[in-house]
Amino acid sequence: MPFPQRLIEGYRAFHDARLRREQDRYRELAESGQSPETMVIGCCDSRVSPEVIFDARPGELFVVRNVANIVPPYAPDERAHGVSAALEFGVAALKVKHIVVLGHAHCGGVKAYAEDAEPLSPGDFIGNWMRIMAPAMAKVGPRGALRHDQYLARLEQANVANSLENLLTFPRLRKLIERGEVAIHGAYFAVATGELLVRDAASGEFLPVAAEDHARLFAR
Ligand SMILES: [Zn+2]
Repeated sequence: MPFPQRLIEGYRAFHDARLRREQDRYRELAESGQSPETMVIGCCDSRVSPEVIFDARPGELFVVRNVANIVPPYAPDERAHGVSAALEFGVAALKVKHIVVLGHAHCGGVKAYAEDAEPLSPGDFIGNWMRIMAPAMAKVGPRGALRHDQYLARLEQANVANSLENLLTFPRLRKLIERGEVAIHGAYFAVATGELLVRDAASGEFLPVAAEDHARLFAR
């Protein structure tokens, strides 16, 4: 199979528009290196691209994506840890100031875990990975009177909170957070409406950041 035509067309569009505008910036970033202030930990989901949602220019966001935007707890056990390696690089080498865990609606990973789906692969990599969110599920408790979609949204948001808690298990990062040199944030993208909610650290609630603009857009 040849290289996907859609990607070649996409690259041509990038070349003629964005690259033309940002050529200097790319050159500068190549010479001086990247120095993004914000790291985003997001989901692999194709609808939730942090660079698109935050309208980011090249060099602005240091992004790590995995199934269900999960941060595993600190585990210095000499195994290979992708998220921990990215965190170490973001915090120690790039010295990012903000770490954003970006969750989203209709997350396939969270849904599979909530519905106790059959293993999707012989290795059940997804099932084993999603187990990291078990404390979030325990905190949310049983579904009760909630509609299934409401319950899943609660789980998705609790999963963001769980990732934030796991960030605190990294000793070096924890120190930086306590000293106020790094801030961690939770956010949630609603997909269908395109709404972005940000987690209020005090109440744990997810609140819309641009509610009025959003209402205006949808009124049109
Ligand atoms: Zn997802």
